[in-house]
Amino acid sequence: MVQIYKAPLKDMKFLIRDFINSESNKIYKNSNIEQNDLEMILDEAAKLCEEILLPINQSGDIEGCKLEHGIVSTPKGFKEAYKNFTENGWQGVSVNEKYGGQNLPYFLNMFLDEMISSSNMSFGLYPGLTSNAIEAIEKNASEDIKNLYLPKLASGEWSGTMNLTEPQCGTDLGLTKTMATPQKDGSYKLTGTKIFITCGEHDLSKNIIHLVLAKTPNAPKGIKGISLFIVPKIIPNSDGTLGENNSLECGSIEKKMGINASPTCVMHYNEATGWLIGDLNKGMKAMFIMMNGARLMVGVQGLGMAEIAYQSALHYAKERLQGRSLNGSKSLDKQADPILVHPEIRKNLLKIKTLTEGLRGLMAWTGLQVDIAKIEKDKFNKQNADDWVSLMTPIIKSFATDVGCEATNLAVQIYGGHGYIKDHGIEQLVRDARIAPIYEGTNGIQALDLVGRKMPMHTGRLLKSFFHEVKEYIEKNSFNYNLKDFMPLLIKSYTRLQQVTAFIAAEGLKDPDEAAGAAVDYLKMFALVSIGYVWTKYAEISFNKLNNDPEGFYKAKIESGKYYMTKLLPETGSLMSSILSGAKSYNKYNDEYFDLGFKI
Ligand SMILES: Cc1cc2nc3c(=O)[nH]c(=O)nc-3n(C[C@H](O)[C@H](O)[C@H](O)COP(=O)(O)OP(=O)(O)OC[C@H]3O[C@@H](n4cnc5c(N)ncnc54)[C@H](O)[C@@H]3O)c2cc1C
Repeated sequence: MVQIYKAPLKDMKFLIRDFINSESNKIYKNSNIEQNDLEMILDEAAKLCEEILLPINQSGDIEGCKLEHGIVSTPKGFKEAYKNFTENGWQGVSVNEKYGGQNLPYFLNMFLDEMISSSNMSFGLYPGLTSNAIEAIEKNASEDIKNLYLPKLASGEWSGTMNLTEPQCGTDLGLTKTMATPQKDGSYKLTGTKIFITCGEHDLSKNIIHLVLAKTPNAPKGIKGISLFIVPKIIPNSDGTLGENNSLECGSIEKKMGINASPTCVMHYNEATGWLIGDLNKGMKAMFIMMNGARLMVGVQGLGMAEIAYQSALHYAKERLQGRSLNGSKSLDKQADPILVHPEIRKNLLKIKTLTEGLRGLMAWTGLQVDIAKIEKDKFNKQNADDWVSLMTPIIKSFATDVGCEATNLAVQIYGGHGYIKDHGIEQLVRDARIAPIYEGTNGIQALDLVGRKMPMHTGRLLKSFFHEVKEYIEKNSFNYNLKDFMPLLIKSYTRLQQVTAFIAAEGLKDPDEAAGAAVDYLKMFALVSIGYVWTKYAEISFNKLNNDPEGFYKAKIESGKYYMTKLLPETGSLMSSILSGAKSYNKYNDEYFDLGFKI
């Protein structure tokens, strides 16, 4: 048996029809599209993922990428899949029509990315990095550069990469050493080595466009002296045809834990020709504009991994016969009951299911806010949508990727020894999911972003975009009898979150290490409450649909929600206790007690 995956179309369509529908009409108008068209696009994407990408997921992991004479070859089937993907216009789904894209809503793109991540996370990185590059170029580059590069990137004929990391410079990009020396013709010569560059070299596209962070001579020290450059593998002529090879090469590819079908490259730039993108020394600003989108998409990868883990584990739990139900045998015609009868298996499956479905709603809502912020004319509404996205970005990136890891691990547990061996492909899911909490800013850094930047930003205005919305919802629905199993728990966790927010803000003013020490727990609390809010709304919608629920979809939503509210949301209580006890037990722990037993 192999990994099991069918795109969760019912759930995605529920979100489109019932959950984000109140706000999505103006987005459809702007994209010149109807809700039905969106649903047809989802159906087509599902076919691509189930029939083309999933079948090469395990084989791609086993075969991996190979580097020979500077050329990286991708595993069998990847070239054909990429050709299919690009020829059918999937790369440009939410790119501006001006550059050959389809200008479809961002939230739709999130659903597509989720399906791609579930069915083949490695494959998804090739177009994923291209999308990041498109965003960075569109938001920062000159018109000439946009017109030359964006149509080729939007069609997938060329692909993109992001080059930040160097051996001595990971999280701390101020340590960048790569140098960019200005030339008389306005171009730059870049010299330096970048490591860990996803899809830095491969055989899927005709050209690879690297976006590279570098310093110019005499630039200010640290991150204030970093600029962003576009450095193509093959330098294009002004008409877009391919010219000379640039002087850059892939020195090696990493042997790594997972995502083996995506090459992680060491890139050497030897006086490579590049052009400045955005303003000199403002590379970090350019990167940050792009990173919001990239971080949300990494969160989507976590969700995608959790979904395939859930489906595979559920399928296995229904088929695997071991032991008998303690409440009397369920399958008397068989030698044993399916393991789905055992409470621990059910609990773990529901944990993955409710986190996954809750996160999907939170992401769809956040994706919708990205779309609203783009088209909204009213200044206040636009700002509110932007605030929501900025606030939720670190929360979604971090929490969803942690859920991806936990869910894939739980799936291995449900499979038992059959999850640990390679045959079923479940251990691959654990290995693939593990990178997402690390790249695009580690999850620890996301938590610091939430507490150190987003929390105090505009004197707490971003937090208000969430707190006000939930408060209004609570006020409106406190006496909704249908929600009697939901509202009190939502209110309790919401109140805890407010208390803890005030505590961290006050403590952080006295000692920044206190706020930093609470950051990871706080982010988790925020995510749990946000998802509690989503589940309460699902329940409200579902109660109103029970009269016409032939498949029991809405009934199941209500029951799943009750599980989430009673079993997962209460963790906000222990997180609160931990945060309120302060961070001194580790911040003030004597360094000498961290004893290796030998000196280094
Ligand atoms: C498979 C893979 C693909 C990647 N793809 C790309 C890519 O395409 N482009 C690219 O540029 N990079 C890429 N990366 C690099 C990735 O983004 C970095 O690994 C990541 O940013 C962390 O940097 P680091 O590994 O040097 O860890 P470090 O920065 O050394 O961090 C180590 C630990 O210390 C913590 N830490 C560090 N600084 C702080 C701080 N100030 N406060 C609190 N905690 C801190 C971190 O959270 C982490 O837990 C990739 C990495 C991998 C493994």
